[in-house]
Amino acid sequence: MATIDDLSRELGGLRGRRVLVRSDLNVPLDGGTITDDGRIRASVPTIRRLADRGARVVVSAHLGRPDGAPDPTFSLAPVAERLGELLGAQVAFATDSVGESAQATVESLHHGRVALLENVRFNAGETSKDDAERGQVADRLAALADAFVSDGFGVVHRKQASVYDVAQRLPAAMGQLVATEIDVLRRLTRIPERPYVVVLGGAKVSDKLGVIDNLLGKADRLLIGGGMAYTFLAAKGYEVGNSLLEADQIPVCREYLERAADRGVLLLPVDVLVTDRFAADAVAEVVRADEIPVDRMGLDIGPESAKAFAAALADARTVFWNGPMGVFEFDAFAAGTRAVAQALTEIDGLSVVGGGDSAAAVRRLGFDETAFGHISTGGGASLEYLEGKKLPGIDVLDAGEREGQRPLNAR
Ligand code: ADP
Ligand code: MG
Repeated sequence: MATIDDLSRELGGLRGRRVLVRSDLNVPLDGGTITDDGRIRASVPTIRRLADRGARVVVSAHLGRPDGAPDPTFSLAPVAERLGELLGAQVAFATDSVGESAQATVESLHHGRVALLENVRFNAGETSKDDAERGQVADRLAALADAFVSDGFGVVHRKQASVYDVAQRLPAAMGQLVATEIDVLRRLTRIPERPYVVVLGGAKVSDKLGVIDNLLGKADRLLIGGGMAYTFLAAKGYEVGNSLLEADQIPVCREYLERAADRGVLLLPVDVLVTDRFAADAVAEVVRADEIPVDRMGLDIGPESAKAFAAALADARTVFWNGPMGVFEFDAFAAGTRAVAQALTEIDGLSVVGGGDSAAAVRRLGFDETAFGHISTGGGASLEYLEGKKLPGIDVLDAGEREGQRPLNAR
């Protein structure tokens, strides 16, 4: 895949060139205030690098899930301000993403300066399943630039206009964030140092079951906690009360349990913390995993399980962790997540944390981010990569795949 250096060489330098960068600036907002700017900070190195080389940097990004039409609650305006603070230079903000404001903003943009275009999902074509509809948005984005840099790792698993189609229309390269993320994922999938341990949890159970299929043959141990554990416990025939359960996935979980049985790769909680309601002041009670009362819900792994998971991580040389072990947002149910995070900081090898909430948990529980090998900005994208799926936003940058398309050095 071409890098920014390759792009610069092919274009005879970046000075004065309009470079469109797709970044992932999808940060959590609370009434217009950014509550966690991790994704903006992760996007800065590539933007700064292009600006330092004199490019006219045009950033395209999305925020939330607007309905394909302008909606002020999903405006990127607060993000433009924060990005400017982090860059130490004002960021010009276009009030539309591919329209008149975008054109005028880019036209008046000086060398080495940065502009942010309004939420690209204000166009229905951005996320359309129809190639022609996406193509229209991509054409308009491409008309704003001389080259494209793909750096929104959190969206590279999406076949969307600003991620995929635009890359077919311009000389394209990957940014530094995408390069780092892909490098880490390759280290996980090629020849991981063993023992290779994967920890899965969180609430998006059906989204994450697919990765287990692929990992069962690759990881030495697979630890399952969080909301995901209860569908497995149900598959073992246990009562799970009011815990998170995806009943239609029970057969799949049963099959995984059977495949893993002879090798003991799959570890489930042996005890859990239950309570009677989902609330911040709910009182936790420890029960055995096969003795969950019908009127209780499990909101964290129990102390025995936390100990067993930490022990299973202790000698690991490679760890991938996605999904909190419990409802860490409630203090009484944060211990399982804390124990796993702690174990990851102590391993001698590569530890990778993937997933928006997992990364947020690490920060919220007061861990030093640098104690982990890598904190990924893209949960869905990393899981799909580990599942063995193709990432359209990456494949489209691949030199081989680009054959027959507009070559890198086309003007
Ligand atoms: P990530 O963003 O890291 O991929 P998910 O989005 O899948 O993780 O899940 C994160 C959410 O899972 C957290 O908000 C957490 O409260 C929730 N969660 C974890 N364990 C449970 C559980 N036992 N029951 C309900 N929700 C849970
Ligand atoms: Mg999440």
